[in-house]
Amino acid sequence: MEKDMESLKEKFHKKIASIKDREELQRIRNEYIGRKGIVAQMLKNITLLSSEEKPRVGELLNRIKRDFQKAIAEKDREFLTEKPVEEKIDITIPGKDFMLGTIHPIELILKATEDIFLGMGFCIVDGPEVELDYYNFEALNIPKDHPARDDQDSFYITPDILLRTQTSPMQVRIMENQPPPVRIISAGKCYRRDSIDNTHTPMFHQIEGLAVDKDISMADLKGVIIEFCKQIFGKDRITRFRPGYFPFVEPGVEVDVSCGLCKGKGCQSCGYSGWLEIMGAGMVHPHVLEMAGYNAQKYTGFAFGMGAERIAMLKYGINDIRLFFENDLRFLTQFK
Ligand SMILES: [Zn+2]
Repeated sequence: MEKDMESLKEKFHKKIASIKDREELQRIRNEYIGRKGIVAQMLKNITLLSSEEKPRVGELLNRIKRDFQKAIAEKDREFLTEKPVEEKIDITIPGKDFMLGTIHPIELILKATEDIFLGMGFCIVDGPEVELDYYNFEALNIPKDHPARDDQDSFYITPDILLRTQTSPMQVRIMENQPPPVRIISAGKCYRRDSIDNTHTPMFHQIEGLAVDKDISMADLKGVIIEFCKQIFGKDRITRFRPGYFPFVEPGVEVDVSCGLCKGKGCQSCGYSGWLEIMGAGMVHPHVLEMAGYNAQKYTGFAFGMGAERIAMLKYGINDIRLFFENDLRFLTQFK
């Protein structure tokens, strides 16, 4: 029996030395000193021994049990002290960089434009991007067979519903719902089936303006546009108006600002003309007023529309419209 005990001790210590985790340690604890473990079994068998042997063997077994308990406790402490070492925090390592976002240049232009016109007594309205053919074309004096439709081929959902090609439908929607006077700005996304190049994308942003009241004249239109150009491009820029054709205004004008690079002398960026075209505008066509339910004998108005991308490109000196939509952070983070 004493020999058995020696080999048991040897086996136990070998196992303890090779275990790798606390789970394994728990298994060995149960196997050797658990309630139904090897030592417990041997203690039970003592009853079979003679009365002289009983105390000595009992004493030996108890010593072995204490030896095992001590070894297990030591191993357990080893595992416990190892863990915090793995989790040690090195406070000298530099922290993770937190990136601060910037506002998209188009959004900057939309907000700046809205602020300028709010200052002149306009209010901001929002319109649907999925629009009826009626509002996008017909009510703006562009019937089904009008050649002006060729320049604005769109994405049709049904023959009568399309993605709006301009923000101008809001002119009609507002006039249908409110009596004059009207002074609104409406900005948002528009869609046309244009091929992508450095000045065209199938989705772009327009800013639309409309003012209708008694005695509104071309002078009011000019005053408002000149003030806008000075505020957005700078006080030193000159604004010029040229005759232009748009079906929903009469007369119509195209608006240019003097080139900021050459100060109007002519350079590559302005095509050596000294001027940069920025928007179309004009006095609201009497047909449009009548179709919206206004009395064109009593009321007059002016309207204008411009591309936000175009304004941003001229203001910030950007030569490719695609940069706005490619999500290149090197480009976007320049606008703070
Ligand atoms: Zn120039």
